[in-house]
Amino acid sequence: MAVSCNGASVEVPAHDEVISTPDQYRRTITPPKIMSSTAHETTSGLTEEFDRDSGYESPPGQEKNGSNIAGKLQQITLPFMQRAVITPEMGEELNMVLRKIIVRDPAPGEVVVRIYYTGICRSDACFSVGPGPGYPKHNHVSGHEGIGAVVKSHDPSLIGHTVGIRYLGSTCGSCTYCLRGLPTSCPSQLNTPKQIAGTFQEYATVPASCVVRLPEAIWNGKIDPALCATALCSGSTALTSLRAAKVRPGDVVIVAGIGGAIGHMTGAIAKQVLRARVIGIDIKAKINKLLLKDHAQYSDFALSAPEAHDGDAWLNFHGALLRACEELRGSCGLTRAAEAVIVSSSSFSAFWRLDDYVCDGGRIVCVGVPEGENVLAIPLRSVVERNLHLSGNLMGGHREALEVVEYILSGQIKPQITIAALEDIPAQMQSIVDCETIGKVVVSI
Ligand SMILES: [Zn+2]
Ligand SMILES: [Zn+2]
Repeated sequence: MAVSCNGASVEVPAHDEVISTPDQYRRTITPPKIMSSTAHETTSGLTEEFDRDSGYESPPGQEKNGSNIAGKLQQITLPFMQRAVITPEMGEELNMVLRKIIVRDPAPGEVVVRIYYTGICRSDACFSVGPGPGYPKHNHVSGHEGIGAVVKSHDPSLIGHTVGIRYLGSTCGSCTYCLRGLPTSCPSQLNTPKQIAGTFQEYATVPASCVVRLPEAIWNGKIDPALCATALCSGSTALTSLRAAKVRPGDVVIVAGIGGAIGHMTGAIAKQVLRARVIGIDIKAKINKLLLKDHAQYSDFALSAPEAHDGDAWLNFHGALLRACEELRGSCGLTRAAEAVIVSSSSFSAFWRLDDYVCDGGRIVCVGVPEGENVLAIPLRSVVERNLHLSGNLMGGHREALEVVEYILSGQIKPQITIAALEDIPAQMQSIVDCETIGKVVVSI
């Protein structure tokens, strides 16, 4: 169903009830049935069992069932229940299911965001098992790349704002790490979906400090707003990685994991924004799929990862790498490897022999964190005598996310996305874990 949004036509699911937000954000939603009995299957296969205990700690002044809140709320009709993908009990295996859960009223300082799009990130799989320290043990809602509009708040001026919800929600801004530009190490940080329920739901109730205001231009109808979800985690991480690599126009950049969510955006920004040349590497199956798509947007060369890191397999791979570098630079009289390598792969084999990917003075940026206690082995002699630079990058900040939104809105990059429905999340999550996904999966809610 198409609805008007700032004069533009935006596809949203067909629903019944209109939420009283400003006209430009008017959406229709289905009022969920309030179930008082035990679980049963609907015709859609949706289990309508729910638990009033959200699994998350209640903020001060807020009861877990959302009934008693302090302060006067803006009078907006929200449904009592909503559809969400949750992990009922955190364990060692992924266990995501579609359920109906309560829409929690906002406490003072919080807002309710109607989520329209959310990306699915590989990290969501990590967030949904365990539980890790600080995560709820049950009824966990994952997702950390949401785009939506504020539909309920104690502060009426926030109603209708287009916002994004990212993993790094808020930080103290005054500790030594915040002051050194390392907000991801702030001991007071709030994260979605750790202390705050994530974006795999229709309505996310979050601290107002944990949303980032997005430009209203994402609804201008010129681009698919779903594309902007890719900027919030993958895109901002890609941009931060390229900045850590100090990529300059004309440099050759190797992106290991080019077929993935972060990798393909790293390649696209390097090529289209920073005017670098890109060699993309990934497992053979992904490279073959990538070649069927418009891979030229992300990479000048696409190479299959080496089958081994010694012997002929390695020599053949490394020879192809050097030839690609030479061809991209033109004849400059000195055959040398790339200026930078950015590794966003989920396979640890992509992190082997990284010193051989770069020329002297080269920069190695590690982004992905494969499972297990992996130890990076780079010869000390190589690092010192060849002046190599090694760094890690966990994610980008709000600023980088907004910069990538601008690249998307201006048409400089067009992320490769697959649109899915909320109920598809468990299967899509498994495909990402199984390394079968190309680009980014974005859920339309
Ligand atoms: Zn992420
Ligand atoms: Zn801090």
